[in-house]
Amino acid sequence: MLKLTCYVCEQAINISNENLYNKVAIQCPNCDNPLPVNAVEALRRYSEAYLDLIDVLYHENSTQQAWGVSVLSNDQLIPEKPDYFFGRPGEDDSYWTHRKKPVVRRAAFEDLEDIDF
Ligand SMILES: [Zn+2]
Repeated sequence: MLKLTCYVCEQAINISNENLYNKVAIQCPNCDNPLPVNAVEALRRYSEAYLDLIDVLYHENSTQQAWGVSVLSNDQLIPEKPDYFFGRPGEDDSYWTHRKKPVVRRAAFEDLEDIDF
């Protein structure tokens, strides 16, 4: 189960992982704020991955080696509500640290000593 929260009006909606695979559009039931189309597409992929995981375990589980899955949550909303003053990050930036592009170090003053001005 996913809880999606509209940051415009704070309305939350719950959608089961297995009920996302065929969603074409999602909007806030309170204020009609639409979830971005590419977010809906990502939710469909998420749902398909979840369904695939359960199917793999369903087929692969044996009486000797078996796994089950449940979804836990700390109920923390991510990403956080955008800050009015700082806006949103750059388009190529990621919320996830491991997906962020490496920082290109700017030339330090020591690197500029050999340059004639
Ligand atoms: Zn809303």
